[in-house]
Amino acid sequence: MLANYDYYCPHCDAKLTADRQIHFLVCTTNFELANLYLSAVPGEYGHRSDYDLKIKNGDRVEFHCTSCRANLQSKTYPDFVEIHLKVTPEVVFEVLFSPICGEKITYVIMENEMVKYRDDFYSIMRNYKKTG
Ligand SMILES: [Zn+2]
Repeated sequence: MLANYDYYCPHCDAKLTADRQIHFLVCTTNFELANLYLSAVPGEYGHRSDYDLKIKNGDRVEFHCTSCRANLQSKTYPDFVEIHLKVTPEVVFEVLFSPICGEKITYVIMENEMVKYRDDFYSIMRNYKKTG
């Protein structure tokens, strides 16, 4: 199950997952970095933050690594945020999700192709709630 796997920064390899959440820094409208958490459980959409981000559907959010602070925008697919999913230390998948609030679009890169892995599984949305 994807929910049991850990996600890592593609730049510094820091682990981003803890307590079934993926921890990011995001750029606020004041150009500060604030904590933002997405559920690491596929199908649980939305975000939590200790900062009033004032984001609404359609807003693009800039994601950064909590450790090295690198911008996590994918170089190959600039419309997406890229994180690494480690199934085992040798088996690493690139996971792409949309940084647009309200867009539920998620891909996994397999053999250099963007493929759907089951349903879309991560999205930053206004409310952090379970669906389905
Ligand atoms: Zn990093």
